[in-house]
Amino acid sequence: MSKYTLVIHGGAGTILKQEITDEQESAYRKGLEDALDTCYVLLENGGTSLDAIRAAIVSMEDNILFNAGRGSVFAKNGSQEMDASIMDGRTLRAGAVCAVRNIRNPVELAYAIMNQSPHVMLNGQGAYEFATLHGIKTEPDDYFYSAFRHDQWKQMQGSDESALDHNVSVTSKKFGTVGAVALDQHGNMAAATSTGGMTNKQWGRIGDSSIIGAGTYANNRTCAISATGHGEPFIRAVAAYDVSCLIEYKGMSLHDAMHLVVHDKLLRLDGEGGMIGVDAGGNTAMIFNSEGMYRGMRSSDGVNEIAIYK
Ligand code: ASP
Repeated sequence: MSKYTLVIHGGAGTILKQEITDEQESAYRKGLEDALDTCYVLLENGGTSLDAIRAAIVSMEDNILFNAGRGSVFAKNGSQEMDASIMDGRTLRAGAVCAVRNIRNPVELAYAIMNQSPHVMLNGQGAYEFATLHGIKTEPDDYFYSAFRHDQWKQMQGSDESALDHNVSVTSKKFGTVGAVALDQHGNMAAATSTGGMTNKQWGRIGDSSIIGAGTYANNRTCAISATGHGEPFIRAVAAYDVSCLIEYKGMSLHDAMHLVVHDKLLRLDGEGGMIGVDAGGNTAMIFNSEGMYRGMRSSDGVNEIAIYK
């Protein structure tokens, strides 16, 4: 049996130990652990990397602590618009949604688009209609609301600024765009990312999380990557695909390729954030240039890790 492994993230940013209470820290650790538990068992039982990462993302989208699905951040007009994408490294098929509202699990909609439509990406109302026609769960606005995110938005309302949810200063911080990558027992890799985007963003703004090659990429020949951070530089750097290219065309290792993109290419564009990755040999990496990144990994050779700070 070949090695199988799974890596997840719950967002990167100014995550400082001194600003987080023990209670908050354990809540985030538990959120990451729940996601790892849910999807690792699928991998253990011979399930596919695609099913494992979907399960991990759904678990975090349903958790109000993370900025994805329930608990997403607010845009300038007070709406909650979400982006998500998923990619299958075996076939290079992909699905994505951007600026969708009222979709309980945007990753499931992205998956349905990948499997049940000739398209890769749908947005807004058209995506919503597709969701209702394909049995994807929807929820009323109240479901997505969290007082904490609302307070974050209130601090920025009226300004032209937008911020990573982790960087808005408030007493009780909550963080997190979510992502997952996996390699299964059959040697197939997959990646997915889901987010509410950046607090006080212009509504209609689309971030890297829904863009194949920027926030998400998977290719069995190279690696699977999910990114988190300030979306615009990640789009301009085509960050996730760049890691794959450095491996494919330059023969770099996963770690070195991710390190170059995160600590050199992205920083030159003021791109704060990080990414998680796995390669065909089951090597993994979790690399960020911010103060912290919620992250965790588990693999068949006994690695089981959850971390937050540098
Ligand atoms: N990358 C996301 C975006 O720009 C935000 C994040 O990762 O927290 O929409």
